[in-house]
Amino acid sequence: MSRAHTVAIVGLGAMGSAAACHFARRGASVIGFDRFAPPHTLGSSHGETRIIREAYFEDPRYVPLVQRAYELWRELERESGATLMRETGGLMIGREDGVLVRGARASAETHRLPFERLDAGEIHRRFPALRPTDDMVAIWEPRAGVLFPEACVVAHLALAAKAGADLHPDEPVESWRREGEGFELATKHGVYRTERVVLAANAWLERLLPDVPLGLAVARQPLFWFEPRAHAESFAPERLPIYLWEPEPDRFFYGFPAFHGQIKVATHGEGAVVDPDTVDREVRASEVDALRQRLETYMPDAAGRFARAAVCMYANTPDGHFVIDRHPEHERMLILSACSGHGFKFSSVIGELAADLLLEGASSLDLDLFRLRHEERPWAGSIT
Ligand SMILES: Cc1cc2nc3c(=O)[nH]c(=O)nc-3n(C[C@H](O)[C@H](O)[C@H](O)COP(=O)(O)OP(=O)(O)OC[C@H]3O[C@@H](n4cnc5c(N)ncnc54)[C@H](O)[C@@H]3O)c2cc1C
Repeated sequence: MSRAHTVAIVGLGAMGSAAACHFARRGASVIGFDRFAPPHTLGSSHGETRIIREAYFEDPRYVPLVQRAYELWRELERESGATLMRETGGLMIGREDGVLVRGARASAETHRLPFERLDAGEIHRRFPALRPTDDMVAIWEPRAGVLFPEACVVAHLALAAKAGADLHPDEPVESWRREGEGFELATKHGVYRTERVVLAANAWLERLLPDVPLGLAVARQPLFWFEPRAHAESFAPERLPIYLWEPEPDRFFYGFPAFHGQIKVATHGEGAVVDPDTVDREVRASEVDALRQRLETYMPDAAGRFARAAVCMYANTPDGHFVIDRHPEHERMLILSACSGHGFKFSSVIGELAADLLLEGASSLDLDLFRLRHEERPWAGSIT
């Protein structure tokens, strides 16, 4: 059996890699485990791009978190020397009274963020690739953009290792138990002692917490890449921002400008509930056709050759908000973050606040929304 580490991180994807980095940089002795070898394509952090946006329609309380996340992403870029983020601006498009447009505007107004309201004609004039219907409007926010998730995970893990973290890819934690003031974690290679634990296994989180009713639904979420069939220049990151679209009430799709000649699009929240070990990673022609229909209607020049697809998983909580809380019986065990398909952008700050909570005892950020008590949390209607 090994010496007791200050903290063990279970899962080294977006959240776990960030946590490993922040703990290790504060001098904590860190041991980290992953089922696979991150960055990999079997969890929730692959697919080349993730949206970051500030006028958070789900709830204005996310705004201070994302603002700190922006600072940390820029800091990570400086320290790693890697390009991790590109600000393209962002459009939340839908009907004026839809949850997307209304919520983005409320967050922007609450936090006095810069934004513009564009009508359908203005959207098309400024971004010719987009063809909203006449009854649609958009909230334009200048700071939204793209994160490159695999590079982010690599950067966090590299800095964690440089600061002394002992990282164990391809070594899933099979079980844990309380031992004295700390914990023992068992893997196929042995038993490890630790004073504190961060559980960041996302789609597999409930396997490690059989006694804590998280109520998670793991959903299969395909991503699609298409080559524009005309006016490719209007899809370049200089011309097209990231966009979220609510074409009908509570139905969403979203997408990115073209990187390497291909645009990426996906629907949100329509994925089948799956088991993470047996999720179907094949994408059917019928699924591609359904997405193409959306493009034909709202971005016709985008609906060119289908290039490829990938399958990812959301770990959805009942209300769409994250879980960031201590285990109900073990205050030195932190549960992160079941972020319901919209958490990547926050992973830098979630790593920081994990270290704040377990090393300093508190975070200066308001984490009320993320408590385990779901029954006290209002529904948010989340999207990436
Ligand atoms: C299709 C898709 C699109 C998305 N788009 C956006 C977006 O645009 N913007 C945004 O902010 N968010 C977005 N999200 C959400 C975001 O990407 C995820 O919420 C986030 O990446 C999850 O990070 P994580 O660390 O919790 O999970 P993961 O990165 O999946 O990490 C969990 C890790 O735990 C490991 N693990 C599991 N079990 C064990 C075990 N027993 N022992 C050790 N390790 C274990 C896994 O191997 C995995 O590496 C999207 C998600 C998906 C799926």
